[in-house]
Amino acid sequence: MTSNPEFRRYLVNIDSTSTHQLFTDCLVVGAGIAGLRAAIEAADHSSVIVICKGTLENSNTWKAQGGIASVLDKTDTFESHIADTLNTGCGISDEKVVDLVVRQGPELVEQMLHWGTEFDMDGKCVATTLEGGHTHARVAHAHGDETGRMIAEALIKKVRENPNIKVVENFYAIDLLTNDDNDCVGVVGRDSHGTQIIWAANTILATGGAGRLYRETTNPEVATGDGIAMAYRAGAVLQDLEFMQFHPTTLYIAGASRALITETLRGEGAVLLDKNGLAFMKDYHESAELAPRDIVSRACLSQMLKTKSTHVYLDVRHFDREYFAKRFPLINELCESFDIDISRDLIPVRPSAHYMIGGVKTDTSAKTSIENLYACGEVASTSLHGANRLGSNSLLEGLVFGKVAGYQAGRGKKAAVTDIKHPLIKYQIPHSDRTRLDTADVRNSLRALMWRNVGITRKTRPLTEAQEIIGFWQRYVMDKVFDRPEGWECQNMLTVCLLMARAAEKRRESRGVHFRGDFPNIDDRNFKKHIEIVR
Ligand SMILES: Cc1cc2nc3c(=O)[nH]c(=O)nc-3n(C[C@H](O)[C@H](O)[C@H](O)COP(=O)(O)OP(=O)(O)OC[C@H]3O[C@@H](n4cnc5c(N)ncnc54)[C@H](O)[C@@H]3O)c2cc1C
Repeated sequence: MTSNPEFRRYLVNIDSTSTHQLFTDCLVVGAGIAGLRAAIEAADHSSVIVICKGTLENSNTWKAQGGIASVLDKTDTFESHIADTLNTGCGISDEKVVDLVVRQGPELVEQMLHWGTEFDMDGKCVATTLEGGHTHARVAHAHGDETGRMIAEALIKKVRENPNIKVVENFYAIDLLTNDDNDCVGVVGRDSHGTQIIWAANTILATGGAGRLYRETTNPEVATGDGIAMAYRAGAVLQDLEFMQFHPTTLYIAGASRALITETLRGEGAVLLDKNGLAFMKDYHESAELAPRDIVSRACLSQMLKTKSTHVYLDVRHFDREYFAKRFPLINELCESFDIDISRDLIPVRPSAHYMIGGVKTDTSAKTSIENLYACGEVASTSLHGANRLGSNSLLEGLVFGKVAGYQAGRGKKAAVTDIKHPLIKYQIPHSDRTRLDTADVRNSLRALMWRNVGITRKTRPLTEAQEIIGFWQRYVMDKVFDRPEGWECQNMLTVCLLMARAAEKRRESRGVHFRGDFPNIDDRNFKKHIEIVR
């Protein structure tokens, strides 16, 4: 036990002798594409519990619009998808990982089709479309722009039908439990019945992203980086935390939540205009609207500054109305709900935090640096994306590494919960009399700080200032013992934000999504590598 709250091992008091306990061979924390796919695979050999902190519909997966990238037609090749992924990754993607993910793609997408995902079809083949950074139309989509939901529903059905899998919604994982050898033995968490321990021979972290660390984000409320913070406290190696991908086009209407306007819209001809009606993208990149996301995001920001505007616009007025409503039903509905007539009006957009590239470091077997702990999906850092994610590669990564993690966990040396000894865990946090606090206020301030100081363009001074301010907030948040998710999330957010600012300061160059105003060039001699962080 430590009295320094920043280095506290667990966020809550634990007494394993008196806490309610559950047992499973394999525990999956998170029920997005990665966690659900992992559960299905692990259940071939193990009993599986899947927990998620909200309902099954609360995930980044559910929100995914554009599609899933894969080599699906005969004129496309694995080599081309691999090359596009490596080019976008700016020199630090792991070629082995890229190869593995790309080559598994067609089989796993095909499997989703058999499991009931209603992909849009072109005759007997899955229809594909183009997105920025891809040199071939290889993005498969379902019900137009409802790809994530369609995939999630098919996986949920499959999971529900499997007698070896038990799903527990509204179960908040607070911390990973480790034994004296620092092997993972399960989690401590909380549901409506109170605090619970789930002992597991293998634990798979699939807690998704961290977009909610920013004031402007496309991510739903669950994406608070819990898995990264839990893994950090348990001593896992993290990497690439400086790489947060910003999506260039999020609906910008004051007071409305920031809904994503999918990139495939630009792939199919939507044009970005500034407030004076100027199509500005060709001034920034030869591929104009189809340039990689980081370039489009910075171009939007720069044009907003030039024209002293809070946003830019997407012009879809030239689309056939009926086609638009069929192809992009979600966006069509969204626009209608704000009285935007897409045949007459422009859609106001601005960039926002979208995808966490960094996370818990894993190898090609989805193993983390902690024994019996696997990670997959957005919480993991597999080195597929390098310094920038190619659009629609993340759903694919979730499927591939979900399957890998489930396979490994189900067939490991210690695969049954009876193979592990349950340690006695007693952890008592000293009482703190310091100020009471309003965690909602801390979260809002933190998200605004991240947007300002650790946003699309970074510089040394704002980055060090962010670390000082977060350090100060940590002093009176991290000493508390909360009994509700809002408090634990706030503590996790502070931890992850601090680590992200630290990593962003360390990378004194610009690469992929990480742009340093004071080091605008790529520096291969010093930084063609990953920045790792371990407690
Ligand atoms: C608006 C939007 C559009 C997107 N469009 C695309 C696209 O077209 N193509 C593409 O490839 N990618 C897209 N992405 C990215 C992609 O959706 C995600 O990267 C991917 O779905 C992540 O899947 P996951 O399984 O890792 O995490 P998620 O789907 O986010 O699931 C995370 C799970 O973890 C659970 N969880 C989190 N913390 C805890 C905790 N403490 N205790 C218990 N459970 C917890 C959550 O409840 C949830 O069930 C999009 C993302 C967004 C937000």
